[in-house]
Amino acid sequence: MKPLKELTRPNIWTLKPYSSARDEYNGAEASVFLDANENPYNTPNNRYPDPLQRDLKALIAPVKKVNPEQIFLGNGSDEAIDLAYRAFCRPGIDNVVAIDPTYGMYQVCADVNDVEYRKVLLDNDFQFQADKLLAAADDNTKLIFLCSPNNPTGNNLCRSEIIKLIEKFQGLVIVDEAYADFSSQASLLADLDNYPNLIVFQTFSKAWGCAAIRLGMAFASPEIIGIFNKIKYPYNVNRLTQQEAIRMMRKHYEIQRWIDSLLEERSRLIKEFAKLPCCRHIYPTDANFFLTKVTDAKHIYDYLVSKGIIVRNRSNITLCKDCLRITIGTRPENDMLLEALKQYSE
Ligand SMILES: *Cc1c(COP(=O)(O)O)cnc(C)c1O
Repeated sequence: MKPLKELTRPNIWTLKPYSSARDEYNGAEASVFLDANENPYNTPNNRYPDPLQRDLKALIAPVKKVNPEQIFLGNGSDEAIDLAYRAFCRPGIDNVVAIDPTYGMYQVCADVNDVEYRKVLLDNDFQFQADKLLAAADDNTKLIFLCSPNNPTGNNLCRSEIIKLIEKFQGLVIVDEAYADFSSQASLLADLDNYPNLIVFQTFSKAWGCAAIRLGMAFASPEIIGIFNKIKYPYNVNRLTQQEAIRMMRKHYEIQRWIDSLLEERSRLIKEFAKLPCCRHIYPTDANFFLTKVTDAKHIYDYLVSKGIIVRNRSNITLCKDCLRITIGTRPENDMLLEALKQYSE
């Protein structure tokens, strides 16, 4: 890996961050707070929240088996994606490399930040080769984006290729593990200490059932996390979100029951779905959704909408012609989907 200073935009490396009242004084003993121009009424929402979310990180760290200094929390993973561009990629000069197809936000954030986005097509089994990504990279490639399990394909990326890429690439490798809780493959978090150029994204939006509170996590070396913390909005995670996430962390063992039942439903739904006349193929999945090639994706999508059932039409995505992406719902919801499609005719 190149020195972090060389990978970071010079203006970000030298940036002196905004210092909030809560940064300057963060001891807990005081009882009279006249430092932040807050209103003394309307407790507890009158007070600015902890800019570094220390109570929440103290609960996340042991569950994820990392140190609190290796955690960044943001307004969804989307914030972490955007910060990675703003921290490391000089607009109009630097570029990133990513697998294709994958999650659309990597490209949108590249376009917003005027950073060249280089796509490398996956194989027909939706796997990638580290050497192909490395061949697409050059001296101005700061980041490589991987997503495992990948969206919209659902499959895990091959672990040995991921490791090969991390070991050979001189820049930073981001592995988005939004669906890791549903996967049979272990998270890369266990390898974080071995790879200073690895950044792992996870989220509260999927297995944790908290898409509405907007909370994303990035895990990396304390040096990289320090850069994210320096450039984020001072109070990027609001108090209500921190409070709700703390409540979820305290019952984190209950989340496993949701996951178990969704995995059971996943097997059942896939088995039944494969019997439908409109189903031509179901791709292997390690996520809480599956990608399926159907006889006529647009027609089936519109038909399901007319029945009040919304799936995702991925027909226009690379390698996904006539594919629908279907999220695993509750058993009754999945049964409604199956019933509707049994009555479907071309
Ligand atoms: C759903 C999803 C996310 C979650 O994004 P949030 O902003 O945390 O809600 C991240 N990455 C991928 C690949 C996803 O599919």
